[in-house]
Amino acid sequence: MNEPARQADDTTSHGAAFSHFEAAFLSQLGRYDHVTRLPNRLQFIDHFSDFARPGQSAVLMLVTLADAKHYNEILRALGMAFAEDFVRAGADLLASLLPSGTTLYHVSVLSFIAAVPVDDPERHPEIAQVIAGAFAGAITVNAIPIKSQVGVGLVPFDLERGAAESLRAALVAAQDSRRSDNGVAFYNHQSDAAHLRAFRILADLPQAMAAPDQLMLHYQPRIELQTGRCHGAEALLRWNHPELGPIPPAEFIPLAEQTALIGPLTDWVMLRAMAQNRRFLDAGHDLRMSINASPVNLSEAGFDDVLLYRCDAAGLEPHHIELEFTEGTLATNSARAVLQLGHLRDAGIDVALDDFGSGYSNLSYLARIPADVLKIDQSFVRPLQEPGDDDFLLRHVISIATGLGFRVCAEGIETAHAYAHLRELGCAEGQGYYMARPMPAEMLSQWLDARPKA
Ligand code: C2E
Ligand code: MG
Ligand code: MG
Repeated sequence: MNEPARQADDTTSHGAAFSHFEAAFLSQLGRYDHVTRLPNRLQFIDHFSDFARPGQSAVLMLVTLADAKHYNEILRALGMAFAEDFVRAGADLLASLLPSGTTLYHVSVLSFIAAVPVDDPERHPEIAQVIAGAFAGAITVNAIPIKSQVGVGLVPFDLERGAAESLRAALVAAQDSRRSDNGVAFYNHQSDAAHLRAFRILADLPQAMAAPDQLMLHYQPRIELQTGRCHGAEALLRWNHPELGPIPPAEFIPLAEQTALIGPLTDWVMLRAMAQNRRFLDAGHDLRMSINASPVNLSEAGFDDVLLYRCDAAGLEPHHIELEFTEGTLATNSARAVLQLGHLRDAGIDVALDDFGSGYSNLSYLARIPADVLKIDQSFVRPLQEPGDDDFLLRHVISIATGLGFRVCAEGIETAHAYAHLRELGCAEGQGYYMARPMPAEMLSQWLDARPKA
């Protein structure tokens, strides 16, 4: 049997004119927050130009009730309905504190904004302090006192800045306010610029890894202090950003460590440093290549296997590679890190604890560090650059570490005096500008060629 013919009006719109009530309803739809019934971000954007009043300055005041972590704790412990009650209670308290006639907008789950008329747009309006004070204790929600962790961010109203950018600036200020003494902060262009730069760096890093000429490795020689022989080099990342210029690794690596980019970045370094070491060996330079690993790398299962695989694929023996890790590695997910370091050492890879003494080193843990080499942080070596400088700490650190069976390497040797003194103290190895700065591979080859063969 044939399917019944479709009714023509099944697919057509009803076409009828909206009633006045429907039109009003639809124009309000999506313009009010369903939890607080306050006008929302879209309304704020629409009303933005109305905040400009001739002869009257205003400050935009953005209040966040809590940071995301605190809100998630409330959600987990007390549930969604309660969390909404918390937001409603916060909104009610806020609205009750605002000068009459000021509209409060609910712009994101935990954030509210209002344009407050002021005499001097460069000074905190009194109301900001009143709000921070009112939320400083707990707010009571369904008879339960809840800590609110309010942040108050201020940005002078400026029509030119536009609604979206003003909102962003006010939110940055509210985030900054969490680090201020009184819970209130003005928008600070410098701190915002730092955030934007960090964001830019992270956004551009994947592209830099794919580009042929942005990231590169420099190599710093590592010297045996007794003989002056160079038996190793440390691979150090360099990034020449096409617009921002050179970005130091101490800036971009900690940022990458906050994201999933650190895995591919370390892999990028491993591949190139190992291939380069093969070329050094082929040219007759017998070097052990040191590669820096981030704590995050060692907390991820399988890092050890990848490293051994890469080493083998590059045609290197395990003793051609050293892996440097920092004390932070032993603080986070240490069981897995210790296991992986142990596996690498069993396979013949040397393991070095980098920046020793810059973290939370304590003597009882020194004996249990899963490493062959201790690289003493530059901060210990720095006081030693001139004759007469104090060597008390360094002398004892070298003596204890050597006694425990570590090979000791001093970082940051900048003068002939520091070199000679460290050698006297029994420090086995060293790195520093006095001997050589980090340099591109071709320069290191020439540098090695020019040295008398030991
Ligand atoms: P690090 O591993 O402790 O590397 C030694 C740092 O000290 C290098 O800085 C080196 O240029 C610098 N240095 C060497 N000799 C001297 C000296 O005599 N005086 C002074 N003042 N400094 C000296 P660089 O290359 O800027 O690297 C900084 C840090 O960035 C490294 O410290 C390391 O923690 C990290 N880093 C660099 N490349 C990588 C990498 O490929 N992976 C990871 N995870 N971290 C890396
Ligand atoms: Mg290092
Ligand atoms: Mg170091």
